[in-house]
Amino acid sequence: MTVEPPPAATLIIRTAAHAETFTVGEQYYPLSIIDRTRGEPAPVADRVAVVFAGYGMAAPALGYDDFKDVDVRGKAVVVFTHVPQEADARSVFDGTSLTPGAAVAIKAREAMARGAAMLIVADDPSHHVDYAFSRSWWNDPQSDEMGIPVLRVARARLARALPDVDFEGLARTIDITLGPQSRDLAGATISYTEHRARLRPRLRNVVALVRGSDPERALDAIVVGAHYDHLGLGGRFSDSPESAGMVHNGADDNASGVAAILEVCRALARQRPLPRTVVCAAFAGEEIGLLGSDHYVSHPAVQIDRTIAMINLDMVGRARGRVMVGMFGGRRPWMTGLPREMRDWTRLTIDDFARGGYQAGSSDDASFTSQGVPAVAFFTGFHSDYHRPSDDVQRIDAEGGAHIAALAVRLVSMLAAQP
Ligand SMILES: [Zn+2]
Ligand SMILES: [Zn+2]
Repeated sequence: MTVEPPPAATLIIRTAAHAETFTVGEQYYPLSIIDRTRGEPAPVADRVAVVFAGYGMAAPALGYDDFKDVDVRGKAVVVFTHVPQEADARSVFDGTSLTPGAAVAIKAREAMARGAAMLIVADDPSHHVDYAFSRSWWNDPQSDEMGIPVLRVARARLARALPDVDFEGLARTIDITLGPQSRDLAGATISYTEHRARLRPRLRNVVALVRGSDPERALDAIVVGAHYDHLGLGGRFSDSPESAGMVHNGADDNASGVAAILEVCRALARQRPLPRTVVCAAFAGEEIGLLGSDHYVSHPAVQIDRTIAMINLDMVGRARGRVMVGMFGGRRPWMTGLPREMRDWTRLTIDDFARGGYQAGSSDDASFTSQGVPAVAFFTGFHSDYHRPSDDVQRIDAEGGAHIAALAVRLVSMLAAQP
C-alpha cells in the first residue's frame, strides 16, 4: 500500500484573539488516509466548532463516557491519547496496560458514530514525552481510512493555539473523579484541508479445485481455506506497536494454515477423486477485515448455496499435543458427535473452542457462516507472540501441524463422500 504525502495540507486553529497555522510533518500529521483511488475529493473543514472530549472514550459498562454530555455533531473533537488513570495499577481501564478503547482507531470510530467532523489527538498529559512526532505513523503502509480526518497534534502546540484551555488540569480532574470534563471550546474553530491519499494495491485470492467424481455431487463443494496475509511491518495492527517497521512474519498466523492447506490439497489431488468437489483457497486480506474470503463468497468457485462446509485453518502451528475444533454457523447433522469421532482419527487431544478459541466472526470462517455455510475451524491457541514479530518459525510445532492437516483430510473426505 502506498501513501501519497500531503504537500498542500493546511491546519488552522482560530480563537477570538488569534489564528495559529500548523505545519504538517512538524506540528501535526494526519493518521487517517483518504481512499481516493476513485478520485474522491479531499475533505475540507472550514471553521468548524471545536469540542474537548477527554480521552474520547465511551465505556458505559465501566461508568465512564466522555461523550455523554456533549454534542460533537459537525465539530472537531479534541481528545487525549490513551486512558485515564494510566499509571494506576488498580484502574478500571485494565490497570497500567491499555484497554482496547485506547486505540486511536477506536476513538475515531466513536467520534464518527456521534457525527464528529474530525478528530484531533494530543498526547495525554501523563506522558512527559510527546510521542506525536515519533513518526512511526508517518510512512505507515497500513495507515488506514478511518472515515473522518484524524490528526495527531503536538500537545504543546495545541495548548498554545487554545490558551484558554487548561489541558493538564482537565486531565487531572478526569483522573481523580473519572467524571467527564467534556465541553465546547466556545469561540474556537478549526479549518483543515486534507491531501493524503492511499493508493490501493490489488489483492488476490489463490484458489484451486479438485473436481468431484460424482456427476451430481460434484456440483457441491467443501472449501478448505487459510489466509496467507499477515501484518507486514506491523503498524497499527501489531500487538506491539513499538515494533512498527519490523517484519511480522506470522509463522503461526498464518503460514501454518497455508502450509496445512497446501498439504491437504496435495494429498487430495493425488488420491482417487472424491464424489464432491474440494476448493482449496488461500485468502488475502484477512487481517484487515476478512477481505479475501468476503470477496470469495460473492464470487465463489462453486455456487455458495452448494457449498456444504468451510474448513478454516488459521493458526495451527502450535499444537503441542492438542488442537481446538470449533463449529460455527448452525448445527448440521454431521456435526453431532464430530469431535468424538475425531478422537479416533488422531492422537492429538481434541479440545472445544470454548477452551481458548477465537471468537466467531474474527476469521475467514465468518465470511462463509454469514452466507449460511457452516464452518469447522482448527486452531492451536493464542500465545504471547500473537501479532508480534516474534511469531516466527522457531516456535512452530511442524509435526503437530501435520497431524492437523491429516485431520482436515479426514474431515474433508468424510464430507465430500457422504451421501
Ligand atoms: Zn490469522
Ligand atoms: Zn492475525
